[in-house]
Amino acid sequence: MATNPAEVLSLPKPAWAADEVGMLYDMAHRFMSEEIAPRYDEFEKNEMVDRESWLKAGAAGLLCASMPEEYGGSGGTFAHESAIIEAIGHVGVDGFGIGLHNSIVAPYVLHYGSEEQKKKWLPKLATGELIGAIAMTEPGAGSDLQGVKTRAQKDGNQYKINGSKTFITNGQLANFIIVVTKTDPEKGAKGTSLIVVETDEVEGFQRGRNLDKIGLKANDTSELFFNDMRVPTSNLLGHEEGQGFVQLMQQLPQERLQIGTGAIAMIERALALTIDYVKERKAFGKAIIDFQNTQFKLAELKTEATIGRVFYNDCVTRHIAGGLDPVTASMAKYWLSDLQGKVVDECLQLHGGYGYMNEYPIARMFRDARVQRIYGGTNEIMKLLIGRSL
Ligand SMILES: Cc1cc2nc3c(=O)[nH]c(=O)nc-3n(C[C@H](O)[C@H](O)[C@H](O)COP(=O)(O)OP(=O)(O)OC[C@H]3O[C@@H](n4cnc5c(N)ncnc54)[C@H](O)[C@@H]3O)c2cc1C
Repeated sequence: MATNPAEVLSLPKPAWAADEVGMLYDMAHRFMSEEIAPRYDEFEKNEMVDRESWLKAGAAGLLCASMPEEYGGSGGTFAHESAIIEAIGHVGVDGFGIGLHNSIVAPYVLHYGSEEQKKKWLPKLATGELIGAIAMTEPGAGSDLQGVKTRAQKDGNQYKINGSKTFITNGQLANFIIVVTKTDPEKGAKGTSLIVVETDEVEGFQRGRNLDKIGLKANDTSELFFNDMRVPTSNLLGHEEGQGFVQLMQQLPQERLQIGTGAIAMIERALALTIDYVKERKAFGKAIIDFQNTQFKLAELKTEATIGRVFYNDCVTRHIAGGLDPVTASMAKYWLSDLQGKVVDECLQLHGGYGYMNEYPIARMFRDARVQRIYGGTNEIMKLLIGRSL
C-alpha cells in the first residue's frame, strides 16, 4: 500500500479540517485524481489546463467554495479552500491555478465589490465561466508595488488604461483580471486603484507570450498589454479611487497563507513518495531505508514537516477566527516555502539518479517548488515585513 500524503505525519486533524471540510478534501482528491491527473502531461505540454477542466471543477463545487451561497459559492471558509489546495498538492497537479482564482481573486470581489458587482461576477467565477487573475507585477515593478506605472485615466464613464503586466498566473485563460493601476500617480500608494477587466468585453487588451518557465508547466503565466483599453468606471473595486494599496495589504495575508498550503501539501507528498521509494530500492544488498543516513534524513524531514504542519494548522485556525496578522502570514509563506524547497531537494537526493528523471514525480516537484520562494512577495520581502515588527 502506498503511503498516503494526508497521513504521513501521524498528526491528529485540526478541528477546522473535520466533517464537511474532510468530505470536500475527499471529493477534491477524487476529482484531481480522476479528471486532472490523467491529463496532466498533456496540460504540461500545452502549458495550460484546458477551459473544460475549469468548468468541470466549477460543476463539482471546487470553485469559490468560500464565497457565500447567495453569490453562487458554497458558503465555506478558508478551511474549505485549504482542503482543495491540499488535495491538488497531494495528487500532484500543482499547476492547476484554481487556488489563486478561489482564495485571491474572488475575495477581492466579495470584500470590495458593490452588491451589483458581486451579483454579476461571483456566480460566473463559481461556475468557471469566468477565470480569474490578478495583475500586479510589471516589468519594472515586482517587489516594489508602489512603482506600478499602469495608468487609468477617467474619461466620462470609462477608464482609459495604458500599461503592461508580466508573470500573470492564469494569464492566457483568464477573462476576469483585477488590474492594479495608478488613478493618480502624484499620490503614490494613495493613488492606486484596482479595476476589473472583463477581457471578452474590451478593446485595447492584448495577451503577450505564455512565458516559458522551469516549473509549474501546466499553468499559463503571461504578459498582458493595455493600449488605450477602455473599461467602464463601474468596474472600479471599492467605493472610491485610491483604495487599491490598502485593499492589497488587507488581502495579502490570505494569499501568503495559501502559498503555505501548497507548500505543506507538497512536503507531505514528497515524504510519502520518498518513504515508499526507499523501501523498494536496494543497494549493497539492502533497502535504501536500512541505511542509517536515510533514516536520519527522513527523521529530520518528518520532524520539520510536523513542525510546519502544526504551525500551518494554527495559522488557519487563527485566520478563520479573523486573527491572522500580516507578520505571521509572512512567516508562514517564507518558512513553509523554504522548508518545501529543502524537503523536496533532500527527497530527490534519496531517489538517486531516478530523482533527476522527469518520469519520477519528485523531479517535477523539484521544478514546481522553486517559485514558491519568489511569488506572492519574495521570501526576502517577507523577512523585511517580519523585521519591521521587531
Ligand atoms: C510563476 C510566477 C507566477 C506569478 N504570478 C503572479 C500573478 O499572478 N500576479 C502578479 O501580479 N505577479 C505574479 N508573479 C510575480 C511575482 O510576484 C514577482 O516575481 C515577485 O514579487 C518578485 O518581483 P520581481 O520578479 O520583480 O523581482 P525583484 O523585485 O526585481 O527582486 C529581485 C531580487 O531582489 C530582492 N529584493 C527586492 N527588493 C528587496 C529589498 N527591499 N530587500 C531585500 N531584497 C530585495 C528580491 O527578494 C529578489 O531576490 C509571478 C511570478 C512567477 C515567477
